[in-house]
Amino acid sequence: MAVYDKKSHKAEEFINHEEILASMKYAEENKNNKELIDQIIERAKDCKGLTHREALLLLDCEIPEENEKIFQVAMDIKQRFYGNRIVMFAPLYLSNYCVNGCLYCPYHAKNRHIARKKLDQQDIEKEVVALQDMGHKRLALETGEDPVHNPIEYVLDSIKTIYGIKHKNGAIRRVNVNIAATTEENYKKLKDAGIGTYILFQETYNKEQYEYLHPTGPKSDYAYHTEAMDRAMHAGIDDVGIGVLFGLEYYRYDFTGLLMHAEHLEAAIGVGPHTISVPRVRRADDIDPDEFDNGISDDIFEKIVAVIRIAAPYTGIIISTRETKESRERVLRVGVSQISGGSRTSVGGYAEEEKEDENSAQFDVSDNRSLDEVLNWLLDLGYIPSFCTACYREGRTGDRFMKLVKSGQISNCCQPNALMTLKEYLMDYASEDTRKKGEKVIEAELERITNPKVKETVKERLLKIEQGERDFRF
Ligand code: SF4
Ligand code: SF4
Repeated sequence: MAVYDKKSHKAEEFINHEEILASMKYAEENKNNKELIDQIIERAKDCKGLTHREALLLLDCEIPEENEKIFQVAMDIKQRFYGNRIVMFAPLYLSNYCVNGCLYCPYHAKNRHIARKKLDQQDIEKEVVALQDMGHKRLALETGEDPVHNPIEYVLDSIKTIYGIKHKNGAIRRVNVNIAATTEENYKKLKDAGIGTYILFQETYNKEQYEYLHPTGPKSDYAYHTEAMDRAMHAGIDDVGIGVLFGLEYYRYDFTGLLMHAEHLEAAIGVGPHTISVPRVRRADDIDPDEFDNGISDDIFEKIVAVIRIAAPYTGIIISTRETKESRERVLRVGVSQISGGSRTSVGGYAEEEKEDENSAQFDVSDNRSLDEVLNWLLDLGYIPSFCTACYREGRTGDRFMKLVKSGQISNCCQPNALMTLKEYLMDYASEDTRKKGEKVIEAELERITNPKVKETVKERLLKIEQGERDFRF
């Protein structure tokens, strides 16, 4: 039997099944222990994070007044580290060829009626121009796993193409990459290509369930998949993004595994994950709707996000357009710091609408609004949509980034950068209504910049943006 060791690089030791079961038992036994829960909530206020056991106990807590406190602490932490800024991104699907057999994903190799597509470099250019015309600056690349159709060279060429496209005032300034677990050598190549975050979802941390859900293909190797972030970080990739697909396994198990993974990266490599994503299973083509039907309720989903916010205060939390407007509104309040907008989950979907009979999408989007509509809605809710990509371009990655976040100093960059990138959006892409609302927010938020020198510089730069200059950053 493997023994729990968060510093180990072996999957079954740092994501230890017995430790997860023991944590679940501990939380079950203590979920009405008000005194203990109060102690944990008090400690959480120091913003130093919580252990996976403590976090699970808060997640399981059923005492209404304690739950109110938990949500309040989550909102306070969010305010302290992220203010009311929300970073925007878009997924870009390059290819849906895939050799794996994941039971929950329509791209699985045996699905014969999904349209298989792969963008060539010219198609990518068209997609990126369409994304730039929407106002996007930050992309997450997605491909299926297929050594013949989607080898690493194809991904590297695509990254080069994307960074090279300058269309009107647009540019993609940060390319995050979500591709299958690969070798240390390939991670080095991705690092050299200048990627932002390497993202890989675990799907589920439960080995038995993982093996059931991934019956064929290279992804069926639980250890290789689970240890991918160790290889990526050893290869020099500083920023990694983890996540589970909630609804595949009992959420308490995966929630605990997710936080253990974060603890492991911090303990064994010295830097925790840059982001945590919390997708929920969605219905899709050729997927059994009875088996995979949004396994967790909106209430539990909101609580999961709130407790992750408390347990890992320094880690960005991401949600996608899988979530409805209403669900997004709830989780933005308690912890989410990054969302996608105007997304297409099909291959080539930005440049051209798909015909009805050639569905190539990975999942159905629940939030179908345009990016401008999403921004308008965020502004109405009092958020500052941000297109900032400054950190990785300024070399603020890995532990350098974490130090700034932990000291709270990062907000001195985030707030001005949010205002300046929002201004660019308003000048270049916004509808009249969004522009008016955005200008008001910028005016009000400028006053919240406490450093007088920074405030003055931002004012000057906002004027310069009006005069046509672009890409200022702190
Ligand atoms: Fe392929 Fe990823 Fe879908 Fe699995 S989840 S079938 S690896 S695209
Ligand atoms: Fe993110 Fe860094 Fe920009 Fe802040 S300054 S929004 S942490 S990229």
